[in-house]
Amino acid sequence: MSNCAIVGINWGDEGKGRIVDLLCTEYDYVIRYQGGGNAGHTVVNDLGKFALHLIPSGIFHKGIVNILGNGVALDPENLWAEIESLRERGVSVTPENLKISDRASLLLPWHRELDELEENRLKDKKYGSTKQGIAPFYSDKYQKKTILVGELLHSKHLKEHVKDLLEWKNLTLTGVYGAEPLELEELYAWFDEYGEKLRPFIADTGKILKKAQSEGKKILFEAQLGSLRDLDYGIYPYTTSSNTLASYAPIGSGLGSAPIEEVLGVVKAYSTCVGEGPFVSEWFGEEAEKLRKAGAEYGAKTGRPRRVGPLDIVATRYGVECQNATCVVITKLDVLSYMEKIPVCVSYELNGEQINDFPFPAELEDCKPVYEYLDGWKEDISNVRKWEDLPKNAQDYILYIEKRIGRPIKYISVGPERNAYLKR
Ligand code: GDP
Repeated sequence: MSNCAIVGINWGDEGKGRIVDLLCTEYDYVIRYQGGGNAGHTVVNDLGKFALHLIPSGIFHKGIVNILGNGVALDPENLWAEIESLRERGVSVTPENLKISDRASLLLPWHRELDELEENRLKDKKYGSTKQGIAPFYSDKYQKKTILVGELLHSKHLKEHVKDLLEWKNLTLTGVYGAEPLELEELYAWFDEYGEKLRPFIADTGKILKKAQSEGKKILFEAQLGSLRDLDYGIYPYTTSSNTLASYAPIGSGLGSAPIEEVLGVVKAYSTCVGEGPFVSEWFGEEAEKLRKAGAEYGAKTGRPRRVGPLDIVATRYGVECQNATCVVITKLDVLSYMEKIPVCVSYELNGEQINDFPFPAELEDCKPVYEYLDGWKEDISNVRKWEDLPKNAQDYILYIEKRIGRPIKYISVGPERNAYLKR
């Protein structure tokens, strides 16, 4: 038995969904353990191109049970829309291949509204939220002021609980933001609608996973976003509101004691970052536009142009260490094929000194990138399937990264399609 977590090493959008889709056939369960519908995992396979927001990327494979663990922000509206759109495109989503933890908390209608109200209040100081209600959701979860999915199965208890919460939440909506209060009857109707829809999928996923573990079944944990967005270890306050690290995966899945033997860290061959926050190796202007176009760097959820720049070794090494990645996947190597010289940010300059360790978040604004330049390969590598067939300069780029981050690079992805990769 060997469990694995596939996690992001940088700011997210590294291509985790594509890697989960590729490797999940070796596993029995694929679990999303944190985050919500605020980011997208893109998967390109025989059925087409999909942007999964909440549903685990194992959903395309027969025989895999996909789980939304207790750590996710379970947004019924987004989830239901996602289930329907997958079904419309021929993907089977049933209570057999998708289970929702009864201990997951519900993202409620007021969370999205509060996200919007707060971003509007912040104006130019905004954090760059996708306005999916994630931050208000997690604040409420830790205040013990939201509803567990399992409560949908206990209607009398649910009604009382919703009434109490609404009374409290309307104080914030009206008093703090001057917004309209929400109506209890409307909220009850919302719970009736989504309770009906989600009920067949609700399960005690802890029990399921305990049994799976005792039977020697294999579990794959799928993270959302990356190390630098982790609430505790990332670029606070420009983080997400949950823990993106592999060490949180057992807790957010329902089986807190689950061992993870392998942590596969996904790193993009260059850097991208969506939303606000410090980004030391960021490019601007024409060179940024060229890289953005080459990599089609536009958000899966929002369509926003992603901020782009060269690979940042300082941030990547930190990300790898935070995740304790046992090995690394480099994605989108093909995107760099147009470059004559490839810059890599190898250290930062801070107050006149060169630093190699990722600094405290508040110091990032003052850090300047220090670059080394590697020779490009200037040929299309998207059809390469063997390490020996990669141009020497592309091999050297990979070996250079491997040496500096100190973890073996096991897979290299050269295209979005399932088979566009090579294994070392
Ligand atoms: P995730 O959130 O980490 O799953 O990443 P996203 O789905 O947000 O972004 C990754 C994007 O890169 C998607 O559009 C993928 O289809 C695409 N992609 C993944 N791997 C490769 C690759 O090796 N080459 C190219 N050209 N595109 C890739």
